[in-house]
Amino acid sequence: MAQGSETVRAVLMHGPGRPLEHVRIPAPRPRPGGAVLETVASEVCGTDVHLSHGRLSGVPYPIIPGHVNVGRVLESNGPLSDIEGRAIPTGALVTFYDVYGICGACWHCLVARAATRCPHRRVYGITAPASEGMLGGWAERIEILPGVKLLVLPEGIGAENFLGGGCGLPTGFHAIERGGVAMGDTVVVQGSGPVGLNAAIFAQLSGALRVFVIGAPRARLEAALRLGAEDVLDVTAVTRPQDRAAWVLERTSGRGADVVIEASGNPAAVPEGLEMLRDAGRYVVVGQYTDGGDVALNPHRHVNRKHATILGCWGYEFSHLHRALRMMSKHRERFGWRELVTREYPLARAQEALEDMERLSVVKALIRP
Ligand SMILES: [Zn+2]
Ligand SMILES: [Zn+2]
Repeated sequence: MAQGSETVRAVLMHGPGRPLEHVRIPAPRPRPGGAVLETVASEVCGTDVHLSHGRLSGVPYPIIPGHVNVGRVLESNGPLSDIEGRAIPTGALVTFYDVYGICGACWHCLVARAATRCPHRRVYGITAPASEGMLGGWAERIEILPGVKLLVLPEGIGAENFLGGGCGLPTGFHAIERGGVAMGDTVVVQGSGPVGLNAAIFAQLSGALRVFVIGAPRARLEAALRLGAEDVLDVTAVTRPQDRAAWVLERTSGRGADVVIEASGNPAAVPEGLEMLRDAGRYVVVGQYTDGGDVALNPHRHVNRKHATILGCWGYEFSHLHRALRMMSKHRERFGWRELVTREYPLARAQEALEDMERLSVVKALIRP
C-alpha cells in the first residue's frame, strides 16, 4: 500500500446507548515533536463503562476509548527522550502519561498548583475527540502528541504487568500519598476494584501494618488477600452498613482505622467509611469519579467531633505514574499485578469486553488489537 493511503482499525464510541463502531481510518503520521505507537494492549476499565453510559460530563463523542496503553514506538517526528533525557528509540516498548493540554499558565496550574484541575486538561480515550487524532488505545495505532510524556517500560515489565495495574496503579498510588499513610498504620480500603487493590498494595509499601479491604465480588476479594490484605469483608454477605463498621471497629480495638480510602464509587460508602475512621484519622475520597448523587452525613459526629481530615483525590499527575511504575518494577514478584488481568479481547470483541467489565466478571481486561 502506498505511503499515505494506509488505513488502520479503530473503535469509535458514539455516546450513551449507542453500540461501538468498528472503523478503518487513515494511519496517523507523527506531528513535529510527536510520535506514533503501534498498540500492544489497552486497558478496559470502569471509566470505559461510565463513558458508554454517558455518566461523565464534557466528553466530546465520538472518541476512541482506551486511556492507559502500551505500545511500540513505530515512528517519530524528531528525537524522543524520557524525562531524564535518555533517548527513546524506535521499537521501544512504552506507555505514556495519558493527559495532555495542561497549560501551566492558568489560575489552577499556577496559583492553586492543582494541575489535575486545569480546565485545559484532556485525557486520551476520555476527553480526546476522535476528530483530533488517534487519541485512544482501542485502535491499532496511537498518536503521541508533542509534549505527551513517554515512559519506557522497565526491564521485566510487559504490557500485561503494567496494564494489570492500569489506571488503578497511579490512582491508588496518589490516594495513598494523599492519605499520608505512615509506618504502622491500619488502613481500610472501601472497594475492591483496580483502584482499591492498588491502594491496598501501596498502603503496604508505605508502611501500613494492617490493610483491610471491603468490597465484592468474591474473586476481587480473593485478589486482595493474595495481595496482602489481612482480612476482607464481602459487602454482598454483610449488607448492613453498621455491621460493616462494627467489623472494622472489632479489628481496631474499637477505635477505627488510621486511614480509610474510599474507592468504591458508591456515595453511601462515604458516611459508612467515616464510621470506620479513628478520631483524628484521614479519609480519602478517590472512588467518586462520576456523580452518583447526594448522601447525608453527620457533621458533628463524622467530621467535627472526630477531628477528621477528609481529602478528595482527582486524577493523577505524571509524578504518580512515574513513581508507581518504578515501584511496580521493584515489587513485581511480590504483588504479581499481571494476575489481575483476567481476560484479553481482540479489538473486534471490544463490546464484549465492555459488557464483562460492567458485570464485574473481570478484574482487569485488556484489548490486544
Ligand atoms: Zn492550567
Ligand atoms: Zn482506566
